[in-house]
Amino acid sequence: MNNPVRQRQWLFPVVNLLILVALLYAGTMGLGSIAPQRVSYTEFLAQVRAGKLSAVEITDQDLIGVKKPDTAKKKGEPAPEERIIATRLPGIDDTSLLKELEERQIKVTGHIERNAWIWGLLGWMLPLLIIGLVYVFGMRRLRQGGGAMTFGRNRAKIYDQSSRVKVTFADVAGVDEAKTELLEIVDFLRRPARYQALGGRIPKGVLLVGPPGTGKTLLAKAVAGEAGVAFFSISGSEFVEMFVGVGAARVRDLFEQAKQKAPCIVFIDELDAIGKSRTSGRGIGFSNEEREQTLNQLLAEVDGFDTSEGVILMAATNQPEVLDAALLRAGRFDRQVLVDRPDLKGREEILQVHARKIHMAPDVDLGIIAARTPGMAGADLANIVNESALLAVRRGSNSVELRDMEEAIDRVMLGLEKKRRVMTPAEKERIAYHESGHTLVALSVQHADPVHRVSIIPRSIGALGYTLQLPTEERFLMTQPELEDRITVLMGGRAAEEIQYNGVVSTGAADDLDRASELARQMVTRFGMSGQLGKLTYGRPLASPFLKSMFTTEERNYSDTTARIIDEESKRIVDAAFERAESILRERDDQLNHLASELMRKETLNKEEVDAVVQSTAPPAPAKQAAGR
Ligand code: ADP
Ligand code: MG
Ligand code: ZN
Repeated sequence: MNNPVRQRQWLFPVVNLLILVALLYAGTMGLGSIAPQRVSYTEFLAQVRAGKLSAVEITDQDLIGVKKPDTAKKKGEPAPEERIIATRLPGIDDTSLLKELEERQIKVTGHIERNAWIWGLLGWMLPLLIIGLVYVFGMRRLRQGGGAMTFGRNRAKIYDQSSRVKVTFADVAGVDEAKTELLEIVDFLRRPARYQALGGRIPKGVLLVGPPGTGKTLLAKAVAGEAGVAFFSISGSEFVEMFVGVGAARVRDLFEQAKQKAPCIVFIDELDAIGKSRTSGRGIGFSNEEREQTLNQLLAEVDGFDTSEGVILMAATNQPEVLDAALLRAGRFDRQVLVDRPDLKGREEILQVHARKIHMAPDVDLGIIAARTPGMAGADLANIVNESALLAVRRGSNSVELRDMEEAIDRVMLGLEKKRRVMTPAEKERIAYHESGHTLVALSVQHADPVHRVSIIPRSIGALGYTLQLPTEERFLMTQPELEDRITVLMGGRAAEEIQYNGVVSTGAADDLDRASELARQMVTRFGMSGQLGKLTYGRPLASPFLKSMFTTEERNYSDTTARIIDEESKRIVDAAFERAESILRERDDQLNHLASELMRKETLNKEEVDAVVQSTAPPAPAKQAAGR
């Protein structure tokens, strides 16, 4: 493989050498400027005879004369070096000069510089030495960091089988779904031969996606620990180096080492630091080219190995949307595992995992702590347990009590940034009603995908809860009633809020409204589903007709009147959907209340639990409402 790093290797020392030479040059210029004015021997004698000198110093090779101040002061104050003149001693043994100096009462000092050459040499060597030292020291640091001259060694932390990863799945709690998905990987690593015999394709790259502190790094380690294989990990942020090529070299080296230690896991933490989309965010200078090269190298390495070699690639990110599409392509990080924030039960389990390490008073109920910390991630909970232990120690107690834990919650909450703050009970209730609204509407309309899970624990920063609907079959087309039902479900959250809080609404529906408006607009302008505007399309999309780009900028090819009608028609569709959602929810008022209170209690409900709640509350309208206008 043609490697850009190799080609650039010579560049670094050459640049350094140039800098060195420049520095030396500047150094000698400086030394030269203190030298006395050099004159010929004849002129020196002339000056002596003219009585212009006050003192003379005789050294091994030179005669240095200091002029009398008055003779030197001709026009203005002369520069100090002009008062000193020097000449080389003539080779002949001339004692007449001494006599002459004596006669004129010029102060003579002898100066025998036996070691003059050493001083001269030192004067030269010292700056050189210092520069050299700085250089060597710098290079050493770079080399430790895996950079520059050697371009080789990397910073990957290596956990061999000999120093086995001790983390196992037992240390990770509250993310059962992610664990289940990763079990397959563990099994493959344990018995690769079995999979090879069956010819099964195991995912090459697994991307763990989830908010910060939910245990992605921990899970990756646990996979290695469970399988008992080596774990190579490197963090994306470590690649962000000043020198172009260093990151790429590290990636190459990492994979080289990993292949020798197979079966093993190569884990790239914070993948977004290198994997940022190449088209977005053109940064300044170095870092960008560096990142691009690193990313290219990573892609090349990912493509270059086969899972049959027993190397499984794992990575983690909390912002999958910024990742370069090339990374997520089939055969690369094609398996994504969601690592969600834990719900009530999950939080209690995580607290239990961490409480194992400390001494708890027997009466401490971790369920209470879990109930008080909705929205917190595993890392925050680990922090709470740790803080509580510290507080107990400060109290002089040898076991952690409930009050320590509660104080620890307050401390940890204070430390959390606003974005990740814990919900207030009022917010929790509103979100519960909002999500219940989505869920109930989805259950009521004819064409909605079944509700798989509903939760009030946000999946991403800034979001509220979520209602997860999974399609029962793969769809290629959507009918008009299906689209209308979808918009109605989107309106369900807002409608529930209006009903429950007597028209006092919140910002919580912003995302739903966005999606609903977009869908309605599409119906009007792209799908010809508006009676008024007919079977024409409005606006020409600029990008490819692929689903995602349907929603991007488009060229406007219609009049202002049409624009107004588009707005009106879209609004009509959304309004109708909202009314439908509202009437559904008003009919199912009891179910709404019941579902919301169950959600507040458990935070996450799966399909069966939702069904149970809905069935236990007498259904007022048993027949499914048909989609209509
Ligand atoms: P992430 O990589 O997702 O940002 P980490 O894996 O670095 O989060 O988690 C940091 C710490 O928080 C872990 O070392 C662990 O102590 C604790 N932690 C996070 N999630 C969990 C979890 N699900 N179960 C147990 N501990 C967790
Ligand atoms: Mg991490
Ligand atoms: Zn919503």
